[in-house]
Amino acid sequence: MSEPRVAIVTGAARGIGAAIARRLAADGNHVAVVDLREEDTASTVTAITETGGRAIGIGADVTVGPDVRAAVGRTAQELGAPTVLINNAGILRDALLFRMDDEDWDAVIAVHLRGAFLMAREVQRHQVEARWGRVVNLSSTSALGHRGQASYAAAKAGLQGFTKTLAIELGPFGITANAIAPGFIATDMLRAAAARQGISFEEYLEAAVRQIPVGRVGRPDDVAAAASYLCSDEASFVSGQVLYVAGGPQG
Ligand code: NAD
Repeated sequence: MSEPRVAIVTGAARGIGAAIARRLAADGNHVAVVDLREEDTASTVTAITETGGRAIGIGADVTVGPDVRAAVGRTAQELGAPTVLINNAGILRDALLFRMDDEDWDAVIAVHLRGAFLMAREVQRHQVEARWGRVVNLSSTSALGHRGQASYAAAKAGLQGFTKTLAIELGPFGITANAIAPGFIATDMLRAAAARQGISFEEYLEAAVRQIPVGRVGRPDDVAAAASYLCSDEASFVSGQVLYVAGGPQG
């Protein structure tokens, strides 16, 4: 049997990141579960280790250079050289343009774009050395435009251009880079969005389902399945793509 690969999943304490971390572990990867606070990663790490997988939890803010270097360094030391990177950490600071303040704009752009950039730049050294690698960036159907999400849409569209450029630069080293653009996936991120709009999560889900062709909202595991494919050896000729996982063309 070949050596297990080492994957880093950011924002993996909960939601989509947690599902991707569990799925990559089930696929045989050793997984670094990265989130803002190490203690928050415990449930994902335990879910993996209880089912026979190997995982460590790391506290790091993906927008902070020294945090990123330390997280990648610790992963390399404790699990081995990371060759799979899932840039999943994300935040929402929704507001209509005239109410959107500078700090919220900067925060959203920083977590998605600066975070993905810092992580990818740090991990590519290991990938290039291994002559193999996978990068998956979490975009969103919001990249196509979404009312109240000027910052988030800009960040998620930006990630698509970033992904395509990584595919071109890193392809010669056996590294693929792809983006997944989920539609409506039921997680805490959207629970918080419902609360901000003053409606219950159930009402919010019902309204969403009416817009989704397959007639249901997405689950974190729907996204994890796509990530699993893009990280597989079978996907070695798929690079620079944006895979919409949205129950329809726009979610
Ligand atoms: P979530 O809010 O449930 O989880 C996001 C995680 O990222 C949290 O654990 C949070 O602590 C972590 N995080 C935030 N800032 C961070 C930072 N600076 N450094 C490290 N970790 C940080 O969100 P989710 O719904 O699971 O979304 C995961 C990703 O998928 C995000 O990039 C999000 O934009 C994207 N996405 C989600 C949906 C959806 O419907 N839920 C749709 C499209 C795209």
